[in-house]
Amino acid sequence: MNAHFKPAGLRPILGLAGLEAPHVVQVPTEPLDQPHWLAWNAPLARRLGLPGQPTGDWLHTLSGHLEHPPWCSVYSGHQFGVWAGQLGDGRAHTIGLLDAAGVPQEIQLKGAGRTPFSRRGDGRAVWRSSIREYLCSEAMAGLGIPTTRALAVVGSALPVQRETSEQAAIVTRVAESFIRFGHFEHFAHHGHPDALQRLTDQVIARFYPECAAAPVPALALLEAVIGRTAALMAQWQAVGFCHGVMNTDNMSILGLTLDYGPFGFMDAFDLHHVCNHSDREGRYAYAQQPRVGWWNCGALGSALLPLIGDEDALREALARYEPRFQEALSAAFRAKLGLTRARDDDDRLVGRLMRLLHQNRTDFTRFFRALCALPREAGATDPVRDLVLDRAACDDWVAAYRERLAWEASDDAVRGAAMRRVNPKFVLRNYLAETAIRAAHEGNLEVLAQLQRVLERPFDEHPEHEAWAGVPPDWADTLAVSCSS
Ligand code: AMP
Ligand code: MG
Repeated sequence: MNAHFKPAGLRPILGLAGLEAPHVVQVPTEPLDQPHWLAWNAPLARRLGLPGQPTGDWLHTLSGHLEHPPWCSVYSGHQFGVWAGQLGDGRAHTIGLLDAAGVPQEIQLKGAGRTPFSRRGDGRAVWRSSIREYLCSEAMAGLGIPTTRALAVVGSALPVQRETSEQAAIVTRVAESFIRFGHFEHFAHHGHPDALQRLTDQVIARFYPECAAAPVPALALLEAVIGRTAALMAQWQAVGFCHGVMNTDNMSILGLTLDYGPFGFMDAFDLHHVCNHSDREGRYAYAQQPRVGWWNCGALGSALLPLIGDEDALREALARYEPRFQEALSAAFRAKLGLTRARDDDDRLVGRLMRLLHQNRTDFTRFFRALCALPREAGATDPVRDLVLDRAACDDWVAAYRERLAWEASDDAVRGAAMRRVNPKFVLRNYLAETAIRAAHEGNLEVLAQLQRVLERPFDEHPEHEAWAGVPPDWADTLAVSCSS
């Protein structure tokens, strides 16, 4: 095989959309030796015009052997609420473009070696974090939540030091763009007004063309990003997803879920759940995420202020986040409850349910899935009753819910079918990811492949994988996830 074979289809790019030298640099990868496949996402590959079966050429490429040096970019950001200064693609290389349904997608390797922005990092990623990112990207896509995608994971035996010695992997990510709030913050904070203007113009031209004709395009862009971010937060909340590191450098300008690290889907529902053990103060706890989304939009707004020029307009734009989020959240929970008409007290009904689930540490996913089968008729069997410790409190809530269903003359079969399309049976619980990772380390890639197939269609029944929708095993509680990846 040619040492630098370029597989059919992958187009070299001249840089990263909206970013120019010296803020992007061409940096060679440090390829992995003797790579092997851990995962190949056949459906996504086909959408990108690639073969459904992985080939040696692609193994070579996605382990870092490239014809042209790929691109990395600088960005900055606020980490845990504090200005962190310069960060950047410390272990991410954008290697080219492929089209999906006519739309160019950046193909990016994560873990292919050091870059000028690696700081003290080694430029590597490990099997564990790469498999988690791969599975969760595809799980989110299956849930219909905007996200970067993952095409493949390549593994190697190269030792990488984390808390213990692990092995190197590269996950290939796919997105229209990986531009973050932190890119805008970088140019604003480091005094590059021209670069800030160019980045803004190009992001608008490529991804938000409707903003170009607005009186103040940068303000229109901010408003659009606020809208997408608020909607994304509502979607995360509605499936019990915690991102874990909502730093501004991990916030996508396209409103995608980006940078999967110590994320977690909740098993037992806890409003204060913190999935990242490095987050000692619980800044990114489940119930905090919507507020942090707003705070992050504020950081983006501050960065754009020189182009907006009007602090009142900025404040007004930010004030629209909250109602936008509430509207999206109410709609999401109305759908989860199978309610087709809005009533003034719906948010109260949802609030009561959240408290019930929180107080009883009820399994979030299992509760809503079981609720799909609840008959409207009072006194009929109640499939959620056994999921809530405090049965009397559960009965009270169910009675109120049934009254609400009766009010809109809800049909059990129609409602149940609609609810099963929004309440997943399967989410990427930490223990499931861990099971796939452990099997992979033992040379068994089948669990990972099957889990991906199930998570691609999380609303389907998949009776052969019933256990993955069951009560998590006891050891699931003991899993700790930190920033280390
Ligand atoms: P994160 O908290 O994963 O979003 O990472 C924050 C910053 O650290 C980003 O600029 C990453 O590119 C960089 N980074 C994280 N891990 C590594 C690593 N192993 N090697 C180089 N850079 C890294
Ligand atoms: Mg990051």
